[in-house]
Amino acid sequence: MSSRWPKKAWMPWDTRYNRVADETTSSVNRPLFLMVAGEQLLCNDTGELWLLSEAEVRQLAPEAESDFLGYWASRPVYARQLDRAVSNVPGQWQELRAQMGLIDETLFALSGSALQWARWRIDHRFCGRCGSPTRPLPGEPAHVCSRCELRFYPRLSPCMITLITRGDHCLLARHARSRKAFHTALAGFVEIGERVEDTVHREIREEVGLRVADPRYFGSQPWPFPGQLMLGFHAEYASGDIQVDGDEILEADWWRYDRLPMVPPPETLAGQLIAHFVAQQHNKGPQGST
Ligand SMILES: [Zn+2]
Repeated sequence: MSSRWPKKAWMPWDTRYNRVADETTSSVNRPLFLMVAGEQLLCNDTGELWLLSEAEVRQLAPEAESDFLGYWASRPVYARQLDRAVSNVPGQWQELRAQMGLIDETLFALSGSALQWARWRIDHRFCGRCGSPTRPLPGEPAHVCSRCELRFYPRLSPCMITLITRGDHCLLARHARSRKAFHTALAGFVEIGERVEDTVHREIREEVGLRVADPRYFGSQPWPFPGQLMLGFHAEYASGDIQVDGDEILEADWWRYDRLPMVPPPETLAGQLIAHFVAQQHNKGPQGST
């Protein structure tokens, strides 16, 4: 399998965008900007993600700084961060989730990076050890404390997401915190001292009371809600009866590959885990689908 998500572009923290646009530069290479405030991105009046030109961004946010994110359609993309969503700009502010399925995977990933950098900057303006202000550390993706010189790097939270399979069935659950009525795979955060494989076994035991054999790594996905890295697995059922915890999981059941309920979209790692399982079962042909 290969991830449908792009490799992360290099991230030169010290190449903030501050040059004057070179009018002789071909439009192919001219930079694009995403405007970020808090958890939101600036979209146009019809709700489409707005990729601003340099002229537009200088007019709307002349004071703000920009961070390089990567490339989209061969054009460099920068994030322009405002402290908060302001109402005196054209268009509308929207959460990234609203763009899922509307923008391509590269742009979704860049938008997610923009939100995570912005959030990290806001959350690390002061040192957690001594309380003094921090400042950006030149040449590094870090802030450093102005007094005790403690460094702060962006932090990610690794999570596992696992689709349990049992012949031509897979286990799908409804999560208490899910905003939508999806049935999906099981997920949970890696805890201190755990290998991600340990997390797979522990979370599955805790959430649905099952044991699984040999988790197989499938792929990963940055998930910027807020700073997660999802690590996807398939695992074959080994033993036990489904017993939902009633807390994180509302219901869980076995579903045959050709009779699935509403599942997450293919832009998500959960959707890709499920689609891969379904494709495998289809490829087995009639003998495989008893
Ligand atoms: Zn400090």
